[in-house]
Amino acid sequence: MNTVSVIKIKSDLDNEIVKLMDLSGAKDLIKSGDIVLLKPNLHAVQHYTTGGTTNPYVVAAVIKWAYKCGAKEVIVGDSPYYGLSDPRRCFTETGMGEIVEKSGARWVTFGEHEFRIFRSASRHLPEEVGISRFVFDCDKMINISAMKTHFNCLVTLCMKNLKGCVRPEDKAAFHKADVNRAIVAINSLIKPHLNIIDGTVGMEGMGPASGTPVNCNLLLAGKDIVGVDSAASFLMGIQPEEVMTIKRGYQAGLGDMNLDNIQITGDKLDDLKMNWKRPDSTITEKFPNLIIRNKGACSGCNMNLLVALNDVKSESEISYNAVVMGQDEPVEKNSVLIGKCTSSFWKDYDHISGCPPKSGDIKKLICLIK
Ligand code: SF4
Repeated sequence: MNTVSVIKIKSDLDNEIVKLMDLSGAKDLIKSGDIVLLKPNLHAVQHYTTGGTTNPYVVAAVIKWAYKCGAKEVIVGDSPYYGLSDPRRCFTETGMGEIVEKSGARWVTFGEHEFRIFRSASRHLPEEVGISRFVFDCDKMINISAMKTHFNCLVTLCMKNLKGCVRPEDKAAFHKADVNRAIVAINSLIKPHLNIIDGTVGMEGMGPASGTPVNCNLLLAGKDIVGVDSAASFLMGIQPEEVMTIKRGYQAGLGDMNLDNIQITGDKLDDLKMNWKRPDSTITEKFPNLIIRNKGACSGCNMNLLVALNDVKSESEISYNAVVMGQDEPVEKNSVLIGKCTSSFWKDYDHISGCPPKSGDIKKLICLIK
């Protein structure tokens, strides 16, 4: 039976991480001389208190634990949201870089280093996909995701966090496929030795970037990535089978989503269960009549649209009935098209080019009040 450990944080993070590792069966994971890769979720330049990014103090506690267990080197790496012009900023402007360095580890942005290329790995991935060499060069990989809702995938947890190991230029093509199936395919290529979910501060509502922080002081860990994500989804008030990455990951044999088959150690799931606001409720509450057609749209267009909409006071300011992005098709006559993916329909509709277009430009286009 697979184990997922769940902890409501009561003391300092260093102690809680040691406890989490013991409870999850990872006590002896690190061997003397191991090179350990930690993969947090860094989202642009968001501070961890927004819930958008893995808490650097959780990462620091894992670094300390790994060195105590005998690790020779700990590397913290990510390839964040590809709309960010200088990816190093996600380390330098969020405090993550400084905290990692103080803990004796080094940080890398994957995009500045080599990738191992996979060809024809899955029909759900681009023909050629690059995965950071750090994933394969390390002795142990520990995945440390944030705990967030996600407007495309419903949640973003450990399974989705592995997308950050993909070569930046492959990510757009990645999203043109079925993003949930593509994430499952990536999970078949990357197998972290341990998966931790940082639920110190989560994000509900319009995650993964524009939601509301939830201070829940939780940590989860386990070797079964599907099981860990299933337990976290349950805690958010979302049944595991509602989450396509979890459901398809389970069907693909990557882990177990049935919580009855998973041994939960530490605190009880039922005692900690919450009811998080889902992404669609945030937009439908604010813009009840606005239709968003975003099948196959990646985070670039989705996020910049959300940032633009966040800036709009009410639906009466919007000039269109529908916004179309990604591989979706305009159905409503009064549609506006966002991003170069929609170019085949541009001759008949108002549109904005770019990949992705800037949020300020989107707002100017869609608003009556310029
Ligand atoms: S146009 Fe938008 S949806 Fe299409 S690849 Fe670019 S950012 Fe993604």
